[in-house]
Amino acid sequence: MSKLDTNLAKANEYLARFRAAGVLNQIAGEAVPAADGATFDTISPIDLKPLAKVAHGKAADIDRAAKAAKQAFPGWAALSGDKRKALLHRIADAIVARAEEIAFIECMDTGQALKFMAKAALRGAENFRFYADRAPEARDGKALRMDGQLNVTSRAPIGPVGIITPWNTPFMLSTWKIAPALAAGCTVVHKPAELSPLTARLLVEIAEEAGLPKGVWNTVNGFGEDAGKALTEHRDIKAIGFVGESRTGSAIMAQGAATLKRVHFELGGKNPVIVFADADIERAADAAVFMIYSLNGERCTSSSRLLVEQSIYGKFTSLVAEKAKRIKVGHPLDPDTVIGPLIHPQHERKVLDYLDIGRREGATVAAGGGKVEGPGGGCYVAPTLFTEANNGMRIAQEEIFGPVLTAIPFKDETDALALANDVSYGLTAYLWTSDVTRALRFTDALEAGMIWVNSENVRHLPTPFGGVKNSGIGRDGGDWSFDFYMETKNVAFATTSHAIAKLGG
Ligand code: NAD
Repeated sequence: MSKLDTNLAKANEYLARFRAAGVLNQIAGEAVPAADGATFDTISPIDLKPLAKVAHGKAADIDRAAKAAKQAFPGWAALSGDKRKALLHRIADAIVARAEEIAFIECMDTGQALKFMAKAALRGAENFRFYADRAPEARDGKALRMDGQLNVTSRAPIGPVGIITPWNTPFMLSTWKIAPALAAGCTVVHKPAELSPLTARLLVEIAEEAGLPKGVWNTVNGFGEDAGKALTEHRDIKAIGFVGESRTGSAIMAQGAATLKRVHFELGGKNPVIVFADADIERAADAAVFMIYSLNGERCTSSSRLLVEQSIYGKFTSLVAEKAKRIKVGHPLDPDTVIGPLIHPQHERKVLDYLDIGRREGATVAAGGGKVEGPGGGCYVAPTLFTEANNGMRIAQEEIFGPVLTAIPFKDETDALALANDVSYGLTAYLWTSDVTRALRFTDALEAGMIWVNSENVRHLPTPFGGVKNSGIGRDGGDWSFDFYMETKNVAFATTSHAIAKLGG
């Protein structure tokens, strides 16, 4: 039996429960169908066959979940930081114990390759541990003095919050958003993406089995236009942590306006990797290839625009093209696969349309350029490199969210900076140069929330994560997440009997 066959057999064992009983919502500690009994199918992008029937939650289900989160809030917020810390570590332990199940189900539901998803659970557990350790100090503030006055600031959890997540790496992203909310003392209503809802169900189960009190974490499946919208409009939900497309962020901002919702947005990107002639070319090429072709290119931080100094443009793009052509596209549970099927036929259509757009715009296809017949006949697209492109093309400006890289030459540093910043997004940027002074100057002027110099995206959890321009509002990571999930209060104490104006005698 091949490794793929063994993995597939195990994945089918893990999936059997979902196939038999469907994916229920979790409200107030109970696994429940949608109030009106409706379901929708989640399909596997490998063979487009249904994996499970999912509860189709709508406004009534969100209302129940928001009420449960509201009811659970005072108890959870009052629990000591140390107790929250211990509980979140127990959730992390339980995630690690079910790492294989999480990885296999994630691969089957999203099409992401096991090569990357094998670590998804561990990364999710790390998110819980990181915020567990910070829970005891989440409420801490500052002491600010002036003559005759001592100000003491402190933080308190904002209340029940809504978390809305996308389909690309659902397990990791859900932990990334939910762990800090719980550590802060908030209760949660989670609306996972309709295209990949399975591991969100595992996650809430794991948390409750680890001892999380009922109603602290509620999960309601459904679509953006019904469950998602209702969550953003609900009066009892104080804030929305959202990860998804920029235009959905705009809609959520409008939907939340009537209830003055606090919002945190992690949105799309069209991130440049900028390679100067003095860079370590081989390492830069490996990093560029990794950042666009890992996770199927369905990655907000992917380096989807390759800006290369003219003198090395031909050599560099040939190197990237050779590497792209050697990348294995295949079944996500095959341990050698790098690129699995894209999430859904509609998304595949969008990516393939961009390949046509690129050709029509006059760019050259240096690698890939079309669909691949993969196992199961699902949504497989070849890793693609467009060369001879310019920054005005749609393939250089719009987020494709697939394994498609657009390479553009630049003349000098000024030109490189202008190209890098000439885009509506500003999530990440990657700079390759051996000139440290240039690196300082260039990163100062780059319009991006996160920049890596001579490196691919290597995440350090205490650092801020988020974008500028159309890529987001707010920062996660370190203490920044608590700024979002908590309210800051200032209390001013008089330390002298200062003179108080006597109005009216
Ligand atoms: P999407 O915006 O279509 O959907 C994201 C979530 O929002 C889903 O759960 C969806 O049901 C919900 N939603 C849709 N319309 C809604 C509405 N009107 N009200 C409330 N909720 C609504 O995004 P997607 O296609 O699932 O994910 C891909 C996008 O996510 C890409 O743009 C990618 O760059 C972005 N992303 C960003 C980050 C980041 O950290 N910046 C990380 C991962 C993905």
